[in-house]
Amino acid sequence: MNAELIAVGTELLLGNIANTDAQMLSEGLSTIGINVYYHTVVGDNPQRLREALDIARKRANIIITTGGLGPTYDDLTKQTICETFGLPLEFHEDIWEDICAYFTKRMKREDIPEGNKQQAMLPVGCTVLDNPVGTAPGCAFEKDGIHVLMLPGPPFECRYLFENRAKAYLEKLTHEKIYSHELRIFGMGESHVEQALHEIMVRGTNPTLAPYAKTGEVMLRATAKAPTEGEAEALLRPLIDEVRQVLGDVIYGEDVDSLEEVVLALLKERNMTLSAAESCTGGLIAKRFTDLPGASAAFRGGVVSYTSEVKESALGVPHELIEEHGAVSEAVACAMAEGCRRVCGSDIAVSVTGVAGPERDERDHPVGTVFIGLATKHGTICRQIDLSRGRSRGHIRTLAAHHAFDIVRRSLLHTVL
Ligand code: ATP
Ligand code: MG
Repeated sequence: MNAELIAVGTELLLGNIANTDAQMLSEGLSTIGINVYYHTVVGDNPQRLREALDIARKRANIIITTGGLGPTYDDLTKQTICETFGLPLEFHEDIWEDICAYFTKRMKREDIPEGNKQQAMLPVGCTVLDNPVGTAPGCAFEKDGIHVLMLPGPPFECRYLFENRAKAYLEKLTHEKIYSHELRIFGMGESHVEQALHEIMVRGTNPTLAPYAKTGEVMLRATAKAPTEGEAEALLRPLIDEVRQVLGDVIYGEDVDSLEEVVLALLKERNMTLSAAESCTGGLIAKRFTDLPGASAAFRGGVVSYTSEVKESALGVPHELIEEHGAVSEAVACAMAEGCRRVCGSDIAVSVTGVAGPERDERDHPVGTVFIGLATKHGTICRQIDLSRGRSRGHIRTLAAHHAFDIVRRSLLHTVL
């Protein structure tokens, strides 16, 4: 089965709002094994909607429209679809009662606008997708082998009707669902990932493997179509194992949200604690880590030592060290990490000092020069990283925090130190 989504609304064409209904529906349809081949957006104009429907019915066997089901003069979706498919509209007494009840009970109003009566008019013989969260019901019908579903435009109602009404209707049309797993990669760019996995990626159509670039990292999605989750897993597991063999430990997690989430899980597993001494990241590491629920089990605290004085007074970095090497240096990154580990009493401390820009620092280090220190009971190391590709101050800080989490992750897996 393949679907075309037609969003109806002039405000979408004017750019006043984004077509979030299409995004939500596409995502939902893929999980139930329905391919979406086209998104169309058309204004509140019956002629152009008719043209869009004529094109869609030639290339899709499921057409889902959003918007234009309301009670106002510009809500013409139902009438236009019925004309195009040659179906009359009929009045549904029970839907009208639902609409009246919605007004009196939910909106506390007795004066129900006449225009709302139009919402109780639905195509003859359709499946009603009743709408308890708004007034416009959706509906679905089949004509000439094409299934047409109409959903309301307001995103909350659209999602509700899709999840609770349309999905069950559509699931009956397909025998297979789509299952997927996401592998998250840090430390290898998209083109290198692609090159390393090229042969695997082009090999098959079920399962498939596709890369997506994210901020500073790459996500690989392995997807399989199968009637059951067990059968999908049987297709996906060997593929994922093979990818793991090729890429090794640049894969930091499967079906996870972030590097910090993986670091927290590893710390908890090992009953260990972390602290962070931050200069150019200005607390971003501490912020991201403590955004995670349950971070208190593993995060001792941190020091935002933005000036040399605070590096000295709060972390005990020797004055001479800063004089000799400068604040952005390997020596200072190491001393910051060691000081932080001592002051915070953590098993592991990570430190970041670097130039986030937009100007070079006083020692003329280029923007994007970053040192990351790591102190554990086994010793201290430092990595110099070049983030000159960072697009902005914020981007450089984000990437520096990514690197800091990755070094902690590697130390917990014993691939550094
Ligand atoms: P209503 O009963 O509110 O009139 P409707 O089904 O007629 O609902 P529209 O009038 O087309 O829908 O849109 C109502 C509101 O829903 C719009 O103002 C807009 O904010 C939102 N909306 C419509 N279509 C979309 C879409 N594709 N994506 C996101 N929001 C949308
Ligand atoms: Mg409307």
